[in-house]
Amino acid sequence: MSGSTAFKLTYSTMYNPPEELHTRFEEALKKVKSELGKDHGLFIGGQDRFVEEKLEDRSPIDTEILLGTFQKGSAQDAADALAAARKAFPEWSHTPWQDRVALVRRAANLINERVFEMAAVLSLEVGKNRMESLGDIAEAADLFRFACDQMEANRGFVAQMQSDPLQGYESSNISVLRPYGVWLVISPFNFPGALTGGPVGHALAAGNTVVIKPASDTPWTPRLLVDCLRDAGIPDGVVNFVTGPGSTLGQALVDSPEVDGVTFTGSYEVGMGIYRAFANGKYVRPIILELGGKNPAIVSKNADIEAAAAGIVRSAFGLQGQKCSACSRVLVEAPVYDQVVERVLALTQKLSIGDPTDRQVFLGPVVNRSSYRDYQAFCEELGRDGKIIVGGKTLKDSELVRGYFCEPTLVVDLPFEHRLWKQEMFLPITTIGKVENLEEAMEIANRVDYGLTAGFYGTEEEGEWFFDKIQAGVNYVNRPQGATTGAWPGFQPFGGWKASGATGKNAGGPYYLQTYMHEQVRTVIRKA
Ligand code: NAP
Ligand code: MG
Repeated sequence: MSGSTAFKLTYSTMYNPPEELHTRFEEALKKVKSELGKDHGLFIGGQDRFVEEKLEDRSPIDTEILLGTFQKGSAQDAADALAAARKAFPEWSHTPWQDRVALVRRAANLINERVFEMAAVLSLEVGKNRMESLGDIAEAADLFRFACDQMEANRGFVAQMQSDPLQGYESSNISVLRPYGVWLVISPFNFPGALTGGPVGHALAAGNTVVIKPASDTPWTPRLLVDCLRDAGIPDGVVNFVTGPGSTLGQALVDSPEVDGVTFTGSYEVGMGIYRAFANGKYVRPIILELGGKNPAIVSKNADIEAAAAGIVRSAFGLQGQKCSACSRVLVEAPVYDQVVERVLALTQKLSIGDPTDRQVFLGPVVNRSSYRDYQAFCEELGRDGKIIVGGKTLKDSELVRGYFCEPTLVVDLPFEHRLWKQEMFLPITTIGKVENLEEAMEIANRVDYGLTAGFYGTEEEGEWFFDKIQAGVNYVNRPQGATTGAWPGFQPFGGWKASGATGKNAGGPYYLQTYMHEQVRTVIRKA
């Protein structure tokens, strides 16, 4: 955040921000709202490009608000962006890593300077509340810095190996990690800051050049990140940005032999399609997939019920349940089941829903019409096959009817065999089930394809058992700030197991930057 405050914004500190964050956000929001409706270009080889066909970026808060227009890029635009990245690669990859890191850090500082304006845009574009919007942008900057810190801590990944014990010769053996080439970054709508910025910052620090394809619901925030990189002085062609439908422009990028590696963050279905398409290349290329989740919270009879209820409600309904890490399943030991349901219900009833740029609002709208319709269909099914104890309806007030507002919804008495205990809904809907013991809870928790995040409330000894048994990449014990959500780079490296991820190395952790480079070993022999 700004230099004058020692406060560090993360998703777990955001419940208690200094006043200054609110006033500066409000000023920025006013400014952004007075400048809506502009046309935003593609960015290819250092140049803005405008094409005939446009995509409208409308706010899910009020669909009559046109935030701006973006270009409906074609397969040719995709090819041009990849060609620009290819052309820039030799020089960028041979730029000393210290200089690359300096540029990426400069861009990170620009992101922080612009955090309020970028967060205001993000809030309007995604429908995310103001503190989470500030968090998304601040996380992007921190991910840039994290990549730079890793490069430094590993001295550019140049490692001296052992010398062979040769008679009459001396040997020098060095292992170097080098960039792959042109890296494609495809990002989702829900964290357009951090989940565009994280892969881009790491690809660049490693020495790759980049083509970015953001989600069509949220192109503006990623474009503002690109502006920060451009203004930091990143050379032309090193970062390129194209907008357009995933099914056409996105697929053209994925199908191109000009892509040397890809980071895709989004749904399981699209991610697996990209994985299969990518396999049609001549040889195996690196693919980093960050996919969906169906994240459980387990509550033991020994739990602190207040901490559990607070953590569950925050993780179930933060960003309207549209986080890959959202807590969508709650499994409670029978002796405390009634008590937990009662507290979770009471806290859910207190949640404020409305315009997410407003200070007191926790839940904004869901992202688009198709999610809004899904919500209605799921609630109908859940009301029939289980029991909805709160929520289940869309909001019809005159203020909100032009947006996609859905009530936070809790479901009980849904049989564990029901498909909606397994399928990611990606909406403000959480199911709560009663279990006889922790073994049963764990069996159900792991009985899904996904394995992203999980939470546990109970004794620390039980917590150790939970860590040992749970099949998930990011796990929390006794955390009221969020049962399954709220990871921060450098604190909780983020990534999933099983259907939730591909590499087994979490972003914002010590093993992630290496996935953007391949190893080269350099042996030289001299006569002694
Ligand atoms: P999505 O529908 O899968 O879209 C993700 C991105 O892929 C968008 O940019 C989309 O573009 C693009 N795309 C779609 N079809 C494509 C194709 N055939 N080829 C290339 N690109 C294509 O996901 P979403 O709705 O934006 O995000 C929600 C999902 O992301 C959830 O499943 C959530 O769990 C997951 N997620 C995972 C993580 C994680 O770290 N594991 C983090 C956040 C979200 P268009 O928008 O133009 O279709
Ligand atoms: Mg939109």
